[in-house]
Amino acid sequence: QELAARARAAIGAAAEAVAQHEERLAQLDRVGGDGDHGRGMVRGLAAAHEAATSATEAGAAVGAVVRAAGAAWSDKAGGTSGALWGAALEAFASALGDVRPPTDAELVDGLTRARDAIVELGGARPGDKTMVDAIEPFVQVFEAEPDAPFAQTLVRATAVAEAAAEATADLVATKGRARTHGTRTIGTPDAGAVSFGIVARAVAESLQ
Ligand code: ADP
Ligand code: MG
Ligand code: MG
Repeated sequence: QELAARARAAIGAAAEAVAQHEERLAQLDRVGGDGDHGRGMVRGLAAAHEAATSATEAGAAVGAVVRAAGAAWSDKAGGTSGALWGAALEAFASALGDVRPPTDAELVDGLTRARDAIVELGGARPGDKTMVDAIEPFVQVFEAEPDAPFAQTLVRATAVAEAAAEATADLVATKGRARTHGTRTIGTPDAGAVSFGIVARAVAESLQ
C-alpha cells in the first residue's frame, strides 16, 4: 500500500498548491468565465484529499484510492471542471489494478484514459481554450515514451503543460462559459489550463 500512500500525498500536495493559487485562478476565471474556478478547485481537491486519506487508512490499493478521490472531487467541487477532473481521476484509476503495483506503461495508459474521458465528456478539442490545451501536450510527452520512468517523464511533461497553459492566452474561447466572453479573453490564459499546470507540478514534485 506504499503506492496508495504516495498517491494520497500527491493529492494532498495538489490541494495545497491550488489553495496557494486560489486568487489567481479566480481572477483568470473572472475574465474567461464566472470567477469560481479557484474556489471550485480548492473545494474539489480538499474533498479528494479527504477521500484519499480515508481510503488509504482503510487499507485500499492505489486504484481504489484514486477512484475515491475522483468521486469525491466531482461530488463536492461543483462546476464543469469538477465534473471533468472527477471523470479523469476515475478513468485514470481504471488503468490501475488492485492486486499489484502499476507498471510505468499502465500509468501512461491511465493518463491516456483520463485525457479521453475529459474530451468525451466535455467535447473540447485542442485550440478551444480549455484545460484540454494543457492536458493534450502533457499526455503526448508520455505517449512518445510510454516505457520511460514515470516520475522523470512527469517533470518534463509538467513543464510542457505549464507552457501550453500560458500559451492559451493567445486563443479565443469557444467552449464552456468562456465562449460568451469571446475575444475579451485574448491575452489572458484559460483558468482550467493554468490550474492543470499547478496540479501537475505539485504531483511531480511530490513523486520525486
Ligand atoms: P464552471 O465553468 O462550471 O464555472 P470552473 O470555473 O470550475 O467551472 O472551470 C472552468 C474551466 O473548465 C475552464 O477554464 C476550462 O478549462 C474548463 N472547461 C470548461 N468547459 C470545458 C469543456 N467543455 N471541456 C474541457 N474543459 C472545459
Ligand atoms: Mg467558473
Ligand atoms: Mg461556475
